[in-house]
Amino acid sequence: MLYLTNPEQLEALLPGEPPYRADQLREWLYEHPVLTVKSMTNLPSALRSELADRLWPFALEVEQSADAGMTHKWLFRTPDGAAIEAVLMGYPRRTTLCISSQVGCALGCTFCATGQFGFERHLEAGEIVAQVAFAEAFLAGGGMNGCPDRVTNIVFMGMGEPLANYARVRESIRRMIEQMGISARAITVSTVGVAPGMRRLAAEPWQVNLAVSLHAADDELRTTLVPLNRRYPLEEVEAAAMEFFEAKHRRVSIEWTMIAGVNDSDDQAVKLSAIAHRLRAHVNLIALNPTPLTPDLPSPHRRIEAFLGVLRGRGVNATLRDTRGRDIDAACGQLRARAAGS
Ligand code: SAH
Ligand code: SF4
Repeated sequence: MLYLTNPEQLEALLPGEPPYRADQLREWLYEHPVLTVKSMTNLPSALRSELADRLWPFALEVEQSADAGMTHKWLFRTPDGAAIEAVLMGYPRRTTLCISSQVGCALGCTFCATGQFGFERHLEAGEIVAQVAFAEAFLAGGGMNGCPDRVTNIVFMGMGEPLANYARVRESIRRMIEQMGISARAITVSTVGVAPGMRRLAAEPWQVNLAVSLHAADDELRTTLVPLNRRYPLEEVEAAAMEFFEAKHRRVSIEWTMIAGVNDSDDQAVKLSAIAHRLRAHVNLIALNPTPLTPDLPSPHRRIEAFLGVLRGRGVNATLRDTRGRDIDAACGQLRARAAGS
C-alpha cells in the first residue's frame, strides 16, 4: 500500500525502475493526489497496472453529502475491517477536513459516539495522511464547487485521541507539512487533555494549533464526563496548555460540548471564563450531537446564548461552532455507528 510506505523510501516499492520514478510517484501521492493510479500520467502503463490496487490503504464504503454539497463525509474500510471516517467542509475561502487518528477511542467520554464504541486500534501514519490525500484528490477533481480546490485546514477531530497515538500522528503531520506543503498553522490537534502529549507537541518544531476539549471547568463535573480527568485533572491540563501557549505563542482553543442541564450553567461559564483568561484562550462551544447510548440532549439555543453572554461579558473570546452535516451523522463516530447497524 503506497501510503503505508514512508515517502522517502518509495524506491523500495519500485525495483528495476530508474531512481526518478520514486520522485514522480511521491509527487502524485503527496503534492498532486489523484483518485486512481491511472491518472499518474507520467508513469509507464505497465507500472500503473502493477500499482493499480495499491494506492489507497482503505476502500471507500460510504459517501454522504449535505449542506448543498458543501459537506462530504466518507467512511473508509481497511483490509482488516477497521472503519475510518473523515468529513470535508467547504466554505467560500477555505476547506476544513476533519480526520481520524484511531479506530474507536479508549478514553470513553460519556457523550461521544466514538468513546462509546471503545478502542479498536491505532491508525498508521499512512492511514491518517491518506485521508488528507483522498480529500485533496476529491477537490482537485472538482468534487466541491464554491470553495478552494485544495484542503486548506485540517483538524484532528474525527475518531480517536490523537495524542494517545503520538508517534503515528506526529509522522502524519510531518508528511502533511514536508510532503504535501500544508502549513503547520493550518493544522489543529484536538485533545481531551493527554497532558504529556500536549507537552511533547509543545516541544515539536511546528506551529500547529492545539484545541483542548474541556467540557467542564471543575474536576468534580469533568470526571463524570471525561474519565481521563482522573489521570490528568484540570490543573495539569491547564498547565500543559499554558506550556504549549508559551512555547508556540499560539492561542490555544478550548472546546466545550454543550449538554443540556449538565455543563451549561452560568456557574460553569464563570469558572470557564477564569481558565480562558489565564490561558488567553478562545472558547468554541459545540451543541451536543445526540448519540445512541445516552439520553443526553443538546443545550437549548437560549441557554447557549446565555452561556456565551456570560463568557463574553467577562471578556472571553467565544463562538458557537456551526454544526455541519447533522443530517448525515457528521459528528464524531456517528456514521460508523450507523454503518455497524446500531
Ligand atoms: N479525542 C479528541 C479529538 C476527537 S473528538 C478530543 O476529544 O478532543 C473531537 C471533538 O468532538 C471534541 O471536542 C469532542 O468533545 C467533540 N465531540 C465528541 N462527541 C460529541 C458529540 N456527541 N457532540 C458534539 N461534539 C462531540
Ligand atoms: Fe475519545 Fe475525544 Fe471521544 Fe473523548 S471525545 S471518547 S477523547 S474521541
